[in-house]
Amino acid sequence: MDLNESSTERAFRAEVRDFIAANLPKDLKDKAEAGYRMHMADGQRWHKILAAHGWGAPGWKKENGGLDWDPTRLYIWEEEMSAANCPPLSPFAVKMVGPVIAHFGTKEQKDKWLPPARCGEHLWCQGYSEPNSGSDLASLRTMAVRQGDKYVVNGMKIWNSYGHEADWMFALVRTSTEGKTQEGISVLLIDMKSKGISHRPIITIDGSHILNEIRFENVEVPVFNRIGEENKGWTYAKYLLGNERALIAQIAQSTKLVKRLKQVGANELSNGRGLIEEDDFRAKLAAIEVELEALRITNQRVLYEAKSGTAGNGGAILKSKGTFISQALSELMLEAVGYYSSPWVMEALEVGWNEKPIGPGYAKNAMPLYARQRANTIEGGTEEIQKNVIAKQVLGL
Ligand SMILES: Cc1cc2nc3c(=O)[nH]c(=O)nc-3n(C[C@H](O)[C@H](O)[C@H](O)COP(=O)(O)OP(=O)(O)OC[C@H]3O[C@@H](n4cnc5c(N)ncnc54)[C@H](O)[C@@H]3O)c2cc1C
Repeated sequence: MDLNESSTERAFRAEVRDFIAANLPKDLKDKAEAGYRMHMADGQRWHKILAAHGWGAPGWKKENGGLDWDPTRLYIWEEEMSAANCPPLSPFAVKMVGPVIAHFGTKEQKDKWLPPARCGEHLWCQGYSEPNSGSDLASLRTMAVRQGDKYVVNGMKIWNSYGHEADWMFALVRTSTEGKTQEGISVLLIDMKSKGISHRPIITIDGSHILNEIRFENVEVPVFNRIGEENKGWTYAKYLLGNERALIAQIAQSTKLVKRLKQVGANELSNGRGLIEEDDFRAKLAAIEVELEALRITNQRVLYEAKSGTAGNGGAILKSKGTFISQALSELMLEAVGYYSSPWVMEALEVGWNEKPIGPGYAKNAMPLYARQRANTIEGGTEEIQKNVIAKQVLGL
C-alpha cells in the first residue's frame, strides 16, 4: 500500500480547492469562520451548488447520476471541504439511504427518490432507534400492518436527528412477530408530511434542537415505499450501519480542529507567551496529533481495502478511535480558550449577534462543541458495541 498521493490525486485536490474558492458563497464562508452555528439549510444550499456542478453524489454509480469516484477521491473531496469551512452536508440522503435504494430498490423507486436525494432537494432522516431498542435494534416494535396496497404504521422512534426538518424518513418497522426478531423487520420510506406523524423536540446539552421523538398514529404508507422484500429489512439496515460508522471518524473535522488549536495557541497570553509555547499544552496537542495521524493511516488502509475489494471491518475501528480523538480535541479547545467559552450565550451562535466578540471567533463555539462531541460515544452505535464488533469481526474473538 502506497501512502503517498499520486499525481492524479494531487491534481484532483487542487481542482476541488479551486472549485470551492470560486463557488462557496461568501456569507457561508464568513459564517463558518466567525464560529456561528451552521444549519441544515446552509448544508442544503451548498449541496445544491455542488449538485449543479455534478458533485451532488459523486460516490454513486454513473447510472444513478453519480461519478463513480473511488473512496480516496471522496476522502480528498471531503477533507478539502472541511478545511475550507464549507457547511457540512447531511449524510442521510447521499451516504445512507441513497446507496440502499440504489442497491436494493426497484427501477421505479430509484427514479422517484435518487435524483432529489442527489440534488439536495429532499432532506432525509433515519428512523431506527426506539425507546427500548437502541443497541439491541432488532427488538424494535413500531408495527406496520399491511392493508391491501398500503401499510398502517403505529409506534414511536426516538433520538431522531433532523426529523422536524426532513421531507422523508427511512424507517425500520416490524412487519412480523414470527420467528427471530431480525426476521420480521422491513424498511419503509415514509413521507414526513403524512397524516398521523407528530414530533416532540429533544433539546441536547449543547442547547440545540436536532433530536426528536417521532410518533406514528395510523400512518398510511404505500407498499410501493417498501425497499426490498418484506421481513428482510435487517439485511438492508446492516448495510447502511457500516457506512454510518465510518462517517463518525471525523478525520477531516479533527484535522481542522488541530489547526484551530494551533491558531488559538499562538495568541499571546498576559505573560507575553502563546499557549503553544507551554510544554503542557504542546505535549497534550502532540499526543492527540499522533493518534490522529495513526487514524489517518488506518483510514487509508480501510480505503485501500475498499478499493481493492478486500473489504475489512474498518468502520468500527474508525468510529471508536475517531470518537476518542474528536472528544480529546474539543476538550483541549475548551482548556485553550478558557473563560472565553463561558458565559455560553446561545444567541451568540446565530448570525446577527453583534456584541463585541469574546475571544477568538471560535471561542464561542468551544463549549457547545465539547458538549456535542460527548454524543459521539453513543450515536451510530455505542463505544461498547464498537468494541464488541472489533473483538468479534476484526480480532476473531
Ligand atoms: C446525537 C445522537 C444522534 C442520534 N441520531 C439518531 C438518528 O438520527 N436516528 C436513529 O435511529 N437513532 C439515532 N440516535 C440513537 C443511537 O443510535 C442510539 O442512542 C444508540 O444506538 C444507543 O442506543 P440506546 O440509546 O438505546 O442505548 P442502549 O442500547 O440502551 O445502551 C445503554 C448502555 O448499555 C450499553 N450496552 C448495550 N448493549 C450492550 C452490549 N451488548 N454490550 C456492552 N454494552 C452494551 C451501551 O454501550 C450503553 O452504554 C442518535 C443518538 C445520538 C446520541
